[in-house]
Amino acid sequence: MEARLRDLLARAGAAPGPVVVLTGAGISAASGIPTFRGPEGYWRIGSVNYRPEHLATRSAFERMPESVWAWYLYRRGVCLAAVPNAAHRALVELERARGERFVLVTQNVDGLHLRAGNTPARTLQVHGNLHFARCFGACGGPLPLPAELGAGWPRDRELDPATAAALRCARCGGWLRPHVLWFDECYDEANYRFDSALGSLGGAALLLVVGTAGATNLPSQLVTAAAARNVPLVVQNLEPSPFTATAARARDGVVVLGEAADEVPRIVAALLA
Ligand SMILES: [Zn+2]
Repeated sequence: MEARLRDLLARAGAAPGPVVVLTGAGISAASGIPTFRGPEGYWRIGSVNYRPEHLATRSAFERMPESVWAWYLYRRGVCLAAVPNAAHRALVELERARGERFVLVTQNVDGLHLRAGNTPARTLQVHGNLHFARCFGACGGPLPLPAELGAGWPRDRELDPATAAALRCARCGGWLRPHVLWFDECYDEANYRFDSALGSLGGAALLLVVGTAGATNLPSQLVTAAAARNVPLVVQNLEPSPFTATAARARDGVVVLGEAADEVPRIVAALLA
């Protein structure tokens, strides 16, 4: 590990403020979770090939809730078959060591951070979690989906009546919806803890960015704010990205190129040294 990174992590580890960790798809790559943004994200309904940015929308759900649910149950099946990797486990160790001086902000909806052992109190799932659903008519907050719903769901399976019945709101009888932020929706605090995520940087000892390239709005705001306020910034990614460029320009920034499953355990070990 280069001396500048080791020094920065030693200072951050000893500082009283929270260590804020922002994670994206790169941390789950070693667990076999595809991004669902590239070619593997295509989904055929009838004769039409949909891209995720068209399917993961409120307007698609309004038009064809059964088909959108089938896609999410397939994705949930992929996530249920995956297991957390060494990077997830290192962040559990970091939370256990730092307690309330740790905040995890994740763009991932795969649920692997919670399965690894990070607590819901310290984990801000700013894009939701596809193992949860809530009433489309806004009766109440998210509830966990039945454990086996979606396990082994093949790409071409349509929604059957029994599964559709399990996806109804117990209170009003209307559709449940996946507890995920759709492309045509806005962040909010009630569902996605947007304000908590932005506020987490106040007095932060470090912003550690793992496996995200800066494609969406909230992560960009966090990284830009950290650089502007001279919060120490470490950006790990497989390849250069807008976020690594920000870290390279920042007064107290370091770029770490490599696999999250290799690099995050080293970074956490240096923070806890
Ligand atoms: Zn309802």
